[in-house]
Amino acid sequence: MKNWKVRYSYLPQQFKKIDHILKRVKKVIQTGDFTLGKELNLFEKNFAKLIGTKYAVGVNSGTDAIKISLAAVGIKAGDEVITAANTFVATVGGICELGAKPVFVDVLENYCLNADLIEAKITKKTKAILPVHFTGYTPNMSKLMAISRKYKIPVIEDACQGILSSYNNKNSGTWGVTGCFSLHPLKNLNVWSDGGLITTNSKKIYEKLKLLRNHGLINRDEFTITGYNSRLDTIQAAVGNCLIKDVKKLTQQRISNAKFYDSKLEKIKQIKIPKREKNNRNVFHLYVVFAEKRNQLLKYCLEKGIECKIHYPKELYLQKGLRFLKHKRGDFPVTDWQCKNIISFPVDQYLSKKQLSYVTKAVENFYKLSI
Ligand SMILES: *Cc1c(COP(=O)(O)O)cnc(C)c1O
Repeated sequence: MKNWKVRYSYLPQQFKKIDHILKRVKKVIQTGDFTLGKELNLFEKNFAKLIGTKYAVGVNSGTDAIKISLAAVGIKAGDEVITAANTFVATVGGICELGAKPVFVDVLENYCLNADLIEAKITKKTKAILPVHFTGYTPNMSKLMAISRKYKIPVIEDACQGILSSYNNKNSGTWGVTGCFSLHPLKNLNVWSDGGLITTNSKKIYEKLKLLRNHGLINRDEFTITGYNSRLDTIQAAVGNCLIKDVKKLTQQRISNAKFYDSKLEKIKQIKIPKREKNNRNVFHLYVVFAEKRNQLLKYCLEKGIECKIHYPKELYLQKGLRFLKHKRGDFPVTDWQCKNIISFPVDQYLSKKQLSYVTKAVENFYKLSI
């Protein structure tokens, strides 16, 4: 492993001291309370409280949170689901697993889907709208919900990157019929494996989600529908119960780190920062800006020991796995442009002030040298 000055993954730092977590995990193991156990019930309550919904349901992964939410609102083979063109593969994976078809709309400067382009994509087959709170930013949910009401199409939020983000002071995951969250090790709230959660305010949907994640079983011996085996592991829920206490604080730290980056990078004319809107609380799962000579800057930063990344370098809609959608380059021009110009810098809660300065100074130097 390279000896990075500014590494991307903070997991070794985060889990240096884990005795208190192991103690809690040990208890689950020694009581054999592995499936749908006490820790899971508690974690679901804690999570619903954190986001501000009536209910939360733990599932296997963020991808399953999306799939099971779509199934709960009745999505089936042949239906169309409108979503953002530049998202992570998991968003469309959840749609395609049900045999439904992802219908993309292009994005705005803030990386989230452009709500003004949605109506033109609605057909008789459109059965859900799936906005993605990409990078930890929430799209214009007022506009989106108005479209949802007008056409009576349910909204499922892909809030996997958006825990504690909000639009007009209303949290992500509280707008749609459900909100989908991921507990993947590199998400803002993480566990020691895969995991996910679905939030909802509807009792009816809540009951359906609980059935769907556990084979449709209503008791030990009877099932009323067929479902999935997608329970959130009770051991992971125990880990989650330890870590959920830190989420508010770490979110604040990420926001503050991003603010520091903004204050330095906005002075560099070759860097463009998306507009920061007051009514939109960005939780910076990713810190992404646009950079001139992006590829050279990336190379320079890597050489300087800064582990920056591109989220994502290849357009989703042009990937081989989605060839059946028959898209061609240019179908989503903003997404295309962003792929070529974006760069992500580490922004997590464990970075020191010195590391943050090191990053901004490296970017400054790069453009000074390249004049
Ligand atoms: C991480 C992520 C997911 C899915 O998460 P998993 O828990 O890894 O299945 C879905 N959508 C987006 C935008 C994500 O970043």
